[in-house]
Amino acid sequence: MSLKVIFLGTSSAIPVLRRSFPAIAVLRKDEVILLDCGEGTQRQMTIAKIGFCRKMKILITHLHGDHVGGLPGLLQTMSMLKRKRVLQIYGPKGIVGFIKNFLKYLKVELGYEIEINEVKEGLIIREREYEIYAKRTVHSMRGYSFLIKELPRPGRFHVEKAKELGIPEGPLWHALQEGKKVTVKGRIIEPQMVLGPPRPGRIIGFSGDTMPYKSLSSFFKNADLLVFEATYSEKDMEKARENMHSTSVDAAKIASEANVKMLALVHLSARYNDSTAIRLEALKYHGNVIVPEDLDVIEVPYPDTNEEFKVYSLKSLSEAEAP
Ligand SMILES: [Zn+2]
Repeated sequence: MSLKVIFLGTSSAIPVLRRSFPAIAVLRKDEVILLDCGEGTQRQMTIAKIGFCRKMKILITHLHGDHVGGLPGLLQTMSMLKRKRVLQIYGPKGIVGFIKNFLKYLKVELGYEIEINEVKEGLIIREREYEIYAKRTVHSMRGYSFLIKELPRPGRFHVEKAKELGIPEGPLWHALQEGKKVTVKGRIIEPQMVLGPPRPGRIIGFSGDTMPYKSLSSFFKNADLLVFEATYSEKDMEKARENMHSTSVDAAKIASEANVKMLALVHLSARYNDSTAIRLEALKYHGNVIVPEDLDVIEVPYPDTNEEFKVYSLKSLSEAEAP
């Protein structure tokens, strides 16, 4: 099952021609987890063909305008497109007031329900197959980093063992594969009788806007993909500290300490026309760094397979289809 990370917007507070405001969509099964929602997110979602009516959670790292400016429009569009599913939104203290007020002043009545949760540090979401954790950032306002962690999935299915135990092929195999016990001729078959050891899930970390600090690397420990802000180049270290942001080297040092497999740098300041230097700086401290552009996609493989990360762009696709 694929786990795709689509970079909808990779700029920071000021957008540039090639980079829109912050937003990242994580696609997992039939669900979208949207990380931040900068201005223009809905348009990027349209280009990426993400859809507005599917199962979705929105996680907001902090309430700076560049990270939430897209919420009013997105919520309205969902209503106009007759969304019926409940939409869950998570963010720091203040997100409830922010959303309720813009809906009130814009006189918008949504045709679907929204659940807004003001989060604290720790486990914030527990689903059947994954969990999401939050950790406070160090920034000029209250904010959070997030960690999406798939729970271990059932081990490999051993066909020979299933046949030896006389389990007929079909729905019973399927149930066992999903970790459920079944009964065959009055005998209870536990899934571990036909399955190998549980296999690890995938982990994605997302920094939000933050200065680097010590315990971030333990929060992101062993993540497969870490998406970290690199608002500044190492050359502008002083500015980074002044504005409570990270440099590409800060991000790479944390990624390296955390032993993450791939580091993706986002939230680049508009002052950098070319991201090459940002990437090269980071590569001195971590061996696998990319600086995605808008509409780039990373597919994260399971850690126990030999599959590679897949990286590609949706941009050519959208241009080819444009009238
Ligand atoms: Zn920002």
